[in-house]
Amino acid sequence: MTTLKGPFFTDDAVNAPYWWEAAKPATSAEAVLPSRSEVVIVGGGFTGLNAALTLAKAGREVTVLDAEAPGWGASSRNGGMLGPGWATFDTAMAYGPEKARAIVTESFHALQHVKDVVDRERIDCDLSVVGYFRGAMTPRAYDAMGAQLDRIRKVMPCDAYLVPRVEQHGEIGTDFYHGGLAIPRYAGLHPARYVAGLAKAAERAGANVIGGVRVTAIERQVATFRVAVGKQQIEAKQVLIATNGYSGPLYPFLQRRIIPIRSAIIATEPLPAATMDRLMPKRRMLAGSQRVVTYYRPSPDGTRILFGGRVLKVSGENVAQANAAHLRKQMLQIFPELSETRISHYWHGQTGFTFDKLPHMGQHEGVHYACGYNGTGIARASWFGHKIAERMLGIERQPSAYEDLPFRSRPLYYGKPWFLPLAVLFYEMRDRWDQR
Ligand SMILES: Cc1cc2nc3c(=O)[nH]c(=O)nc-3n(C[C@H](O)[C@H](O)[C@H](O)COP(=O)(O)OP(=O)(O)OC[C@H]3O[C@@H](n4cnc5c(N)ncnc54)[C@H](O)[C@@H]3O)c2cc1C
Repeated sequence: MTTLKGPFFTDDAVNAPYWWEAAKPATSAEAVLPSRSEVVIVGGGFTGLNAALTLAKAGREVTVLDAEAPGWGASSRNGGMLGPGWATFDTAMAYGPEKARAIVTESFHALQHVKDVVDRERIDCDLSVVGYFRGAMTPRAYDAMGAQLDRIRKVMPCDAYLVPRVEQHGEIGTDFYHGGLAIPRYAGLHPARYVAGLAKAAERAGANVIGGVRVTAIERQVATFRVAVGKQQIEAKQVLIATNGYSGPLYPFLQRRIIPIRSAIIATEPLPAATMDRLMPKRRMLAGSQRVVTYYRPSPDGTRILFGGRVLKVSGENVAQANAAHLRKQMLQIFPELSETRISHYWHGQTGFTFDKLPHMGQHEGVHYACGYNGTGIARASWFGHKIAERMLGIERQPSAYEDLPFRSRPLYYGKPWFLPLAVLFYEMRDRWDQR
């Protein structure tokens, strides 16, 4: 954890997730690697731990291995915003209205799954249904939101609704947007507490959750797999890869299909209650309609604003300072009155995108995988972990709507998204063009 220096940082500002103040991912000391385990799960985030929980509860011997501490990846760094998947509707329509309906319906199951797990395992993670508001950057964007609702309602009922600009202050204290879209059943949670609670629940159910262990190879034997951790090996009947945006070169099949994209968040210092009441009257989860998205929310205790979006820099000097400055600038466009408010935390993490913008689960040469949540993975990763576990157990009653979707790469893509800077530039230019 490094400190951050600069005119708009607090004196004790850090380059570390705000969430880690309450629940920093930790590795249990002196974990011993087993030589055998019925199931080995690579990656201890929402996907891996939900899978571990379902498998261990069904009596399977499960070992979860994470290269860092369990939960260290995107699962303890995200915005903590989770809701139904109306935004996926248009993408899913490429497969027809039946598939689109099935995919959106499944997003409600995913949301319910998180609520059930949190409830059943008594995970203290500030889960609360507060709703969501997506501000339209232009009048045209507002019309496009309405047109999308019309398209959805031709296929299925939808409780999302438009909020015209004149009523916007009921949702958010800004004139920056031209109205927007409200989604009532959206929720917020504390992601680091959720993932820490999942790890504990999986351990209670009998899973062996081990941090600080990087899997270096997975080799298929006749009827088993050999999972290598450096020179040590674990023999497993089944393997699940749950590494999403941190996948790296371990499994080339996934490396060629997952596009790792960095996203970053800043947290403000605590704000007066009256300011929070004015800026975020309903304590909603919030976002803007840009193609290069911004997302923001109040902290669960309602005292700070957490504001996320794309990173400006991925390497070089003062990466954190440059990215924090960029996010702060975007925040001030929405809330100019925060110009004197200082930033206490900056952090980033890796999301896993896919070429078809949909998440995928399945099996390749006997190895199971679940990944590609395209930046929206709290509910989906949790659900995918659970569903892939059911599949591994052979007890899946209702296959996921995603299971039969083709999972494709692109020629010349081998895990380094060389096209990303160009794509971001292109989308930002289109955003600016729309706003002219
Ligand atoms: C800044 C940010 C904001 C986000 N905001 C939201 C949001 O508001 N709402 C939402 O729904 N989603 C959000 N997301 C996305 C969401 O966090 C992810 O989709 C989700 O956490 C993915 O979970 P996962 O378990 O699949 O992967 P991760 O949580 O990323 O876990 C993967 C793990 O695999 C481990 N690993 C990698 N390679 C190996 C190896 N070889 N051996 C062992 N372990 C390995 C890593 O150490 C890591 O801990 C956000 C993501 C980021 C980064």
